[in-house]
Amino acid sequence: MAEILEKELHRLERMERSVKGFLNLNPIQRGGILTPEAKKAVEEWADGYSICDFCDGVLESIKKPPIDEFVHKTLPKFIESDEVRLTHGAREAKFMVMHAVCKPDSTIVVDSNAHYSTHVAAERNKLHIVEVENNSYPEYRVDVGRYADKIEEVKEKTGKLPSLALITFPDGNYGNLPDVKRVASICSEYDVPLLVNAAYAIGRMPVSLRDIGADFVVGSGHKSMASSGPIGILGVMGDLSDSVFRKSREYRNKEVEMLGCGPRGLPLITLMASFPTVYKRVQRWGVEVENARFFIEKMEGIDGIRQLGIKPTEHDLNFLETNVFYEISKKHKKGRFFLYRELKKRNIIGVKPGLTRNFKLSTYGFNKDELKKIIDAFKEIAMLK
Ligand SMILES: *Cc1c(COP(=O)(O)O)cnc(C)c1O
Repeated sequence: MAEILEKELHRLERMERSVKGFLNLNPIQRGGILTPEAKKAVEEWADGYSICDFCDGVLESIKKPPIDEFVHKTLPKFIESDEVRLTHGAREAKFMVMHAVCKPDSTIVVDSNAHYSTHVAAERNKLHIVEVENNSYPEYRVDVGRYADKIEEVKEKTGKLPSLALITFPDGNYGNLPDVKRVASICSEYDVPLLVNAAYAIGRMPVSLRDIGADFVVGSGHKSMASSGPIGILGVMGDLSDSVFRKSREYRNKEVEMLGCGPRGLPLITLMASFPTVYKRVQRWGVEVENARFFIEKMEGIDGIRQLGIKPTEHDLNFLETNVFYEISKKHKKGRFFLYRELKKRNIIGVKPGLTRNFKLSTYGFNKDELKKIIDAFKEIAMLK
């Protein structure tokens, strides 16, 4: 064994994270902040396989802690689906559905605002992708009516219907919320199964798979459900559950697509411990949208700042075009890193170091005072011009 240096070990002993006291605008982190209840559960459940004491072979059947009830009753009611499984993330849920439902070399139809993980999951499944365009700058609105054309196109070119359609609700760049019900009705007309990627929706805003009328919905626990993660949620409707949940030939109680068992330990425990809070916060989604709109209105009051994507915004995740900061960066001695530093000086983080021209941010969970503080900081920094 090669020698490991003392200083290497020392660095591992002190895994520090200096974000305390900062207002964090990073969209991927706002909805994953643990609740006090989840934090408390961390200590008790952090050991490896801690959850497996009362397992007789099927994680989702564990009665204590109440995983059985959570997975088979609570979550299906929450997202109004027939069945729920927990996965290691939204991407794993997408991969799993594609793997169960799509034959290799078949084609799927995907919106052009799809997350990269949709493309990678498709690639790993050896699938071809046909994209439904958006109307590009400045709105990037996906023209959902075009799902019909694309399905026809695939049918014409390959002689077969697409094996799956996917829509991102909302997308992770602009926070655009496409008309998923319309996509669902188009897809069901053609009998093409539809997956709704709700990584930025489930746990933030009300989502009902039944109401949407799609076959699958996926969410992300560490993105939007106040879980440490990595954990994802997959909701499934009706007949298609047979293929997604099929059991191993050899190990009769183990599901093949799950590789026998889903996420255990802290990802699941923190998801469960946070859930009562998450359930309640989803009912206050209207306030989050109001706050986001308030924030955007004030930000657009600054010369050289503009929100891209659909307006008025319908989500806490928003994309800003910020020419004013780009102009400043050209002359500032810190160059393009000035914005990151100026924000940090004001106890604000979450805008990627080096970005000035445009960036995304989220206002999720901030109160009005915090929002005002953030707006004032951006106003002050814009005066450097
Ligand atoms: C964050 C995100 C994902 C990935 O979620 P994981 O749970 O980390 O796999 C997928 N899709 C969208 C739209 C996202 O924003």
